[in-house]
Amino acid sequence: MSRIYNFSAGPAAVSESVLEKARDEMLDWNGSGMSVMEMSHRGKEFVSIAEKAEADVRELMGISDQYKVLFLQGGATSQFSMVPMNLLQGKQKACYVNTGAWSKKAIKEAKTHCDVHLSASSEGDNFTSIPAVDSWDIAQDAAYLHYTSNETIGGVEFQSIPDVGGLELVADMSSNILSREIDVNKFGVIYAGGQKNMGPSGIALVIVREDLIGNVVAGAPSMFDYKNHADAGSMFNTPPTYSWYLMGLVFEWIKEQGGVAAIEAQNIRKASKLYEAIDSSSFYANPVEVASRSRMNVPFTLADSALDAEFLSGTKQAGLVTLKGHRSVGGMRASIYNAMPEQAIDALISFMVEFEKTKA
Ligand SMILES: *Cc1c(COP(=O)(O)O)cnc(C)c1O
Repeated sequence: MSRIYNFSAGPAAVSESVLEKARDEMLDWNGSGMSVMEMSHRGKEFVSIAEKAEADVRELMGISDQYKVLFLQGGATSQFSMVPMNLLQGKQKACYVNTGAWSKKAIKEAKTHCDVHLSASSEGDNFTSIPAVDSWDIAQDAAYLHYTSNETIGGVEFQSIPDVGGLELVADMSSNILSREIDVNKFGVIYAGGQKNMGPSGIALVIVREDLIGNVVAGAPSMFDYKNHADAGSMFNTPPTYSWYLMGLVFEWIKEQGGVAAIEAQNIRKASKLYEAIDSSSFYANPVEVASRSRMNVPFTLADSALDAEFLSGTKQAGLVTLKGHRSVGGMRASIYNAMPEQAIDALISFMVEFEKTKA
C-alpha cells in the first residue's frame, strides 16, 4: 500500500492514525460484534461514542455549558439558511462581511431570508485581503454579523476575532476550525462542515449559545430549527452516525497531538515554510496580502501559467496530489489542514525548488 500526500481543499486528508483506528474497529467496535455503522443511534454503544465526541470537542475548544454543540446534516451550506432562520428573531436585517467565494454563498442564501447589510467587502481587491475592522459599517439594529474566518478558495484568513460591538457574531469556520485557538465566548454561533479539519463530509459541527435557540422563523421546516436538534441531543432524526464517530476519532487525535495550541504551533510552522518558499522565489507568487494569508489554504501561481500542467504532472509523480488551484483563481492551491504532516510540505517545497531550477 502506498499513501500519497493529498493537498485537496475538501474532502481533505485525514490523519493516518485516525484511518487505521477506524479500520481496526470496522468489523467489531470495542467488543460489540458490530461496526459503528450498524449500531442503533439510541443504543448505549453509539450514545457513548456520541457523548465522547462532544466532550472532547468541548474540551479542545473550551466550550462552556452556555453553548449547545450540535452534530447536523447538510454540511456547512445548510447553515447558510439555518443561521438567518434561527437568529433573525423578528429582525429584518443581518450584517455580512464579504471576503470571498464562501462569504458570497452565505450572503446569497441570507438574502432569501432578510436584508443583507454589507458591512465590508474585499471584492475591490479581488479578495486578497481582510478589510480593516475599524472601517466596517456595522448596523447595530441587525440581528447578527456573519463572517467567514477562512476563505478556502482565496486563501484569506482572519488572524483575530473582529470586535463588532454588541452584535451577535456568527462565523463559518469550515476550513480553519480547530486549527488555532479561539475564544468561543465571543460568538453566538460557530459552524463548520466536517471535511476540511474534522474528517468526513456531510456532517456539520454547530456551536450555538443556548439563549439564541427557540425562536425559529414561522413556517421553518422542523429540520431547520436548532431547538429540535438541541432538545434531542442531535438525534431529532437518525444522525450521520458513522461520520459523527469519525469526527470523534479526529478529536481524539487532536488531543493526542497536545490539543489546539500544539496543532496551531505546527500549523504556523507548516504555513510559514511554504510562504517563505514562495516569497523567496521570483518564479512562484501568492496574491494575498501578507497579514491576511491563510495557514490552511495556500494558493500560488507559476511565473508562466503554460507550465502549470507540467508542474501538476510532476508533483503527481512525486506523490503530491490535488494541487490544482480552484478554477476561479487558477494556478495551484496547497491545502495544508491539521492532518497534513510537515514532511508533505517539505516534499512539496523540494519539488518546487527543483522545478524552478529546471524552468526558470
Ligand atoms: C467547504 C466549505 C463550505 C461548504 O461546506 P459543505 O459541507 O459543502 O456544505 C462552506 N464554507 C466554507 C468556508 C468551506 O470551506
